[in-house]
Amino acid sequence: MTHPSTLAQGRSYLAIPGPSVIPDAVLQAMHRAAPNIYGGELVEVTHSVVADLKRVARTRHKVAMYLANGHGAWEAALANVLSPGDLVLVPATGRFGMGWADMAQGLGAETQIIDFGKSSPFDLDRVAEALRADTGHRIKAVLATHVDTSSSVRNDIPGLRRVLDDCAHPALLMVDCIASLACDRFEMDDWGVDVTVAACQKGLMVPPGMSFVFFNPRAEAVRNAMPRVSRYWDWGPRGAPAEYYQHFGGTAGTHHVYGLRAALDLIHGEGIEAVWTRHETLARAIWAACEAWGQEGDFHLNIADPALRSHAVTAARLSGPDGTRLRNWLSDNIGLTLGIGLGMAPAGDPAGDAFFRLGHMGHVNGQMIMALLGGIEAGMAANDIAHGSGALSAAARVIAGKA
Ligand SMILES: *Cc1c(COP(=O)(O)O)cnc(C)c1O
Repeated sequence: MTHPSTLAQGRSYLAIPGPSVIPDAVLQAMHRAAPNIYGGELVEVTHSVVADLKRVARTRHKVAMYLANGHGAWEAALANVLSPGDLVLVPATGRFGMGWADMAQGLGAETQIIDFGKSSPFDLDRVAEALRADTGHRIKAVLATHVDTSSSVRNDIPGLRRVLDDCAHPALLMVDCIASLACDRFEMDDWGVDVTVAACQKGLMVPPGMSFVFFNPRAEAVRNAMPRVSRYWDWGPRGAPAEYYQHFGGTAGTHHVYGLRAALDLIHGEGIEAVWTRHETLARAIWAACEAWGQEGDFHLNIADPALRSHAVTAARLSGPDGTRLRNWLSDNIGLTLGIGLGMAPAGDPAGDAFFRLGHMGHVNGQMIMALLGGIEAGMAANDIAHGSGALSAAARVIAGKA
């Protein structure tokens, strides 16, 4: 419980990298009696959601929906193309790349991991080297994370496609866009991505519980050549259902369908290009503030080069326990919750208390980002954490369109 003398009462702000802020329109759309699942409005709404999800992923191909979180979609995507003993190449740039590789191992696949550490993007030359060395084309898929939410690095997916093409390697390009879809520019078809994995609780602004696997005809051909695919994860019927229940392999995710409908109305009402631009501008405001704070004391952004930073999540650190002190003060005193650092130090190691992350994905606007930054400024003052000055005016200039 927060003490009544604090400034925590009022609408709270969960600024973690998912689940993200849920728009009132989404909450209201989900607040309804259970709909019929055998016909009527829900069927029509589901069809419209499928079409509009594909517009967000910029694909004209198929999507399979799962009543699962992102981990479920990871497994679903892999289960359709990997048999035990198959080999996948995983260029990893943080905790999530490692997590997807672990999922592949759980299915009996062999993983060749290239670990680029916790604050760097893919080195495409090293990926090319690994593909060229695979003269027998054993590598069946490359598992890439577009934005690794732990490090907040944004990887070059079109570049990865070029590398595969230059090496004339037939491996599928599979991309985890859970943290980037509807935040950072992503063009599934134009970029030559074969499989895209996403979930509903980040840029799509819906409570966790639904996830998506988009797949193109190349990926479908690989799936169709599989000796066996688990019935539940099989994307075939979900992507081209003959009966309504096949969309979900059982009872529909009724309220999620309505929530998604409202979220997709927001996204397409604004326009996906405008959504990407908003995220970019808000991210630039955050970086401007962080760079000013970093002029004194120990405030550091995890990704040094702005061109390599996500527009949806920012990983940062202070020193010693100050990251955790700051987070705790903000949630206890002013109703603002930041994300914990993820995978930056071994579990239980006090070094992890230096790290934290800002989530700025989905339903966020200029005044919310100014409040986020103002809150952090107050938290550093309250905790006597040394920092440079001028952060809020630097961010305000970006919001004002002057920087
Ligand atoms: C959040 C996230 C996941 C995991 O999603 P869950 O819904 O927590 O299972 C995987 N990959 C990335 C890039 C993510 O941001």
